[in-house]
Amino acid sequence: MTSFDLHGRTALVTGSRSGIGRAVAVALARAGADLVLHGRTADLDEVDKEVAEAGARTTRWVFDLSDVDGIPAAVADLPEVDILVNNAGIIRRAPAAEHSLDDWRAVLGVDLDAVFVLSRTIGAGMLARGHGKIISIASMLSFQGGLNVPGYTAAKHGVAGLTKALANEWAAHGVQVNAVAPGYVETANTEPLRADPVREADIRSRIPAGRWGRPEDIAGAVVFLASPAADYVNGHVLAVDGGWLTR
Ligand code: NAD
Repeated sequence: MTSFDLHGRTALVTGSRSGIGRAVAVALARAGADLVLHGRTADLDEVDKEVAEAGARTTRWVFDLSDVDGIPAAVADLPEVDILVNNAGIIRRAPAAEHSLDDWRAVLGVDLDAVFVLSRTIGAGMLARGHGKIISIASMLSFQGGLNVPGYTAAKHGVAGLTKALANEWAAHGVQVNAVAPGYVETANTEPLRADPVREADIRSRIPAGRWGRPEDIAGAVVFLASPAADYVNGHVLAVDGGWLTR
């Protein structure tokens, strides 16, 4: 099990207050990592308690990632990060023909621009030290078109492309860049889909595993990619989807 051990490593998980980010933060802590918890607002007490109970030392970073230009200066105050999990994300739903440029830009800003700037800024330190792991949370919509979410689909395809671009440049320098693509997971992000009985049943009936994912289902893949066990895994987008893509 030692190759999955994260003791001595510090992980930053963006958007760690809720959903997938919270489950990932707790799982990384259980694997031995210390945590930089991040939220747009300061309400990080609950996740901090859970992560500290798992044995992690914690630091908090409160920052709105839609301020992409402000990221480099804000990151300079953080502890040295060995594992970056680009998890924070938003989604705006409206049919493509009515999708506003404001919604498009808001989603691209948080879901792709911020992922690039965080990866570039924190990745520079990893390159200088000769080791590091970057894991971005992609989506089924890194592979498929989706409905009513053109900005989100463009951003998540972008995350998959950026993952490969960074991996291609940084693999030789000891920095592994990968992504995890969750299927349909019970979080705030998918609440409107689950509130619509027709859409909910439609989605569930297409999942070979026969159920929606839970945030904890996603965390193990992130721990693997954050660990020495994945030192030779580069530029991979790992679907954790109950079989959705095999359908
Ligand atoms: P969530 O809404 O619970 O989590 C999103 C997190 O991002 C929240 O903690 C939120 O505060 C944070 N965030 C949003 N905008 C921010 C900003 N401007 N600044 C700082 N933080 C911000 O939903 P989730 O499903 O856990 O989403 C986590 C990631 O997983 C997202 O990237 C999402 O696109 C992705 N994802 C989710 C699903 C799913 O089915 N739930 C599927 C595929 C991918």
